[in-house]
Amino acid sequence: MGRIHGSAYLIIGFFVSFISWIFDLRKLIVFFVVGLIMALYGGARMGFDIYEYYHERKNKKNQPMQQQTHPQQHSQVRSTTKHCKSCGTPNHLVSKFCHQCGHTNFHMM
Ligand SMILES: [Zn+2]
Repeated sequence: MGRIHGSAYLIIGFFVSFISWIFDLRKLIVFFVVGLIMALYGGARMGFDIYEYYHERKNKKNQPMQQQTHPQQHSQVRSTTKHCKSCGTPNHLVSKFCHQCGHTNFHMM
């Protein structure tokens, strides 16, 4: 995946704080705190990953084609289309033939 998993932070954080606690908590209090923060961060990240995973799965189930349709596409259709003189079908501005009937004359919109 290319990114560090939350459980790695959790394990390293606990390890660092545990080591500093074993040796000398007063001298290594900074490491202890950093380790605890890392562990907390890892835990939060794990929770977020799990949430994201289930959220993604839920989205894929409900809307499988969501990423292929852009919300701005509808507003762009009007300005980049021309209508066939023969059948009235809207065609893309750059197309030379009507995709419906093959006619070459267009109304410019
Ligand atoms: Zn046509």
